[in-house]
Amino acid sequence: MIVGKSILARILLVGVIIFIATLSLRAEDQPDTSYEIIGHRIRLHIFPSQNGITCIDTFSIRLLRKDVHSIQLRFLPAYDIEQILLKGKKVDFKRERDRLNIDDVPSDSVVQYVLSFSGHLNFQSEYSSLSKDRAILREEEILPYGPRRLQDVRMDIIVPSSWDVAAPGNLSTRESLADSTLFRFRLDETVPMIGWICAGKFQRSRSSDGKVEAYVYAEDSSYAPRLIAQASEVLEFYSRQFLPYRFGTFKIVEVEDWVAGRNVLAIAVPSMVMVKKLALTTDDKFNRADAILPHEVAHQWWPMTAFIRDEDAALLAEGMCEYSALLYNEHTGKLSARDSLKHHPLLRSLLLRIQKGKDIALQQKADLRSVPTHYLKSSYVHNMLRRIVGDSVFFQLYREWARRYLGRRGSQQDFQALAEELSGRKLGWFFEQWTTKRGVPRMKIYSVKSAQQGSGWVTRGRVRMVGYEKYTTYVDVAVETAGGKMTKTGIWLGADSAGTYHNDAPFEITTDAKPIRALLDPSGDILKMQKLPAKLSELRDPSDGIMIVGTRQHKEYLLGLAQKDSASMDRNWWSLAIKYDSSITLADLQQEHVFLYGKASENSVVADLQNKFPLGFHGDSIEVKGETIYDSTLALVQCIESPYVTQGLVVWIAPMSEHAEPELGPYESSWTVIRGKEEISSGTWEVTDEDLVVVVK
Ligand SMILES: [Zn+2]
Repeated sequence: MIVGKSILARILLVGVIIFIATLSLRAEDQPDTSYEIIGHRIRLHIFPSQNGITCIDTFSIRLLRKDVHSIQLRFLPAYDIEQILLKGKKVDFKRERDRLNIDDVPSDSVVQYVLSFSGHLNFQSEYSSLSKDRAILREEEILPYGPRRLQDVRMDIIVPSSWDVAAPGNLSTRESLADSTLFRFRLDETVPMIGWICAGKFQRSRSSDGKVEAYVYAEDSSYAPRLIAQASEVLEFYSRQFLPYRFGTFKIVEVEDWVAGRNVLAIAVPSMVMVKKLALTTDDKFNRADAILPHEVAHQWWPMTAFIRDEDAALLAEGMCEYSALLYNEHTGKLSARDSLKHHPLLRSLLLRIQKGKDIALQQKADLRSVPTHYLKSSYVHNMLRRIVGDSVFFQLYREWARRYLGRRGSQQDFQALAEELSGRKLGWFFEQWTTKRGVPRMKIYSVKSAQQGSGWVTRGRVRMVGYEKYTTYVDVAVETAGGKMTKTGIWLGADSAGTYHNDAPFEITTDAKPIRALLDPSGDILKMQKLPAKLSELRDPSDGIMIVGTRQHKEYLLGLAQKDSASMDRNWWSLAIKYDSSITLADLQQEHVFLYGKASENSVVADLQNKFPLGFHGDSIEVKGETIYDSTLALVQCIESPYVTQGLVVWIAPMSEHAEPELGPYESSWTVIRGKEEISSGTWEVTDEDLVVVVK
């Protein structure tokens, strides 16, 4: 029996995906196991005025079997191949769409081809582009590729003389040519990819030790010092915690918002992170560069040090980076009581997804950009594993994972085996339950009674697993008194070490003072079904919806507000329709997201619905937190669960007068009084989950 310790921690990124370039998402991408690419020596010439490139790529292939006579690479059809040489002699090759077949492969363990090609970047891509000011080139769209484990990468990149180049590896030479500059990069460490090459006009700055560099657009140069300072600190922490950082320098490179499509805020490649302009300039603190950098930097270990398989990316790349970021924030003491996994803005979205049966198992090939809740689920899995094996084994697990799988691909099975070896426990059930199965457990606390005994109080009760799914987990229970909280940790529900299933367990807690409430999982360590209050922060998870504008009064003004909100939400990948209250049907109200503009005197739908909202108007003023507020420049925004459709949300934007200019956003509250987007007062609805909290009798 131990006094409760407040666990963790804040996941800083929310609704944000940090993309790693390892995924091949097409079903036909069955990796060829006969070879791997182990080196590239590239001479790449970029001609922005012609939107073109020329390139000589000397790539080395290691044959993994003896009977290999031909190899198949992928290579964009947009380029013209001048020739492919092997030991100075031209070799035959065939191209079919994006396949490049080379036949008559010599029987040798390593074969080196020299590929010369050129072409224009006139294809549609959400990953690469070349304009007169900059180039963003994704490895797969400029080089031949296939299975790779790159041990030797050298790149000579030639660009106009006013340009800079930021590419994976260390810059060894920068040489001025007639009207251009040559940048020579070298990667001496084994890496799973090159990823991207960025070039263009940048403002470049570096840390005093020269190890961390920022390449940002001139107008954003003020962000550079903070990015550099933070990245240095994070690199140092992970170097101590996991394994020393493997690459000499680290670069932060600004890229435009279109790169890699919706939901992506940053992209990690070896020794470099590309950060979108949006992340530098947004007001949303959860999406800001300083919030996402700790996760991003962690990708230098997961998976740039310990390589992974695509199907394990949720657990061994994204979840592990998310949890590493949380460890960093825990270490720096930036966590506060409210920054726990249980207060994560995506938790309600994740649980709703599960309730709707729309969740997918963590372990599978998936485009993680479309499943932001996977980041949270996977982070929970790491947290629960930590609680089971204990801190010292858990930290050793991360260190050993980096050390043993440095430069080679480990699987989830390998990760599990290592966790079992270090902890001396069987953990197959844990990984199966949380990564190969869908769903989360539902638990309850019940039959809680308390009696005075001697000078103190003894509270007894039971906890149980609800439903037919046989989950296994430990769980904590706490008893709250006027003087504080007493916690009993590690009550086991589910399969015991002999495999017998117990869905019910008793507990007993002694306190000095009279108990008030008993709580199941008081720190929110376990991912489980629970009731959570509707919050405006859910607007961070893009969806579609309808905006209903009042026509009773101030129609034009209210329409203007809706149009402005719709435009800014469109930029965050929402899809919204605007309608007048006079033409609303039941089907409109049954949409998953409904936004109401105006007070009852202005909007007839609001007149029907306003009683469903906890806060109301008294004439022109409102009363919040015992205070009456009237100010013509303010607006009250509230959100509640939809009375029309389960798991829907209704948001009501009520300006106090037409002088108010409220801006809708993912506020961390259920209701807020705002001026513009400045919060004057706010709060979250009290929701009691009878399964998890009981009043002690
Ligand atoms: Zn990531």
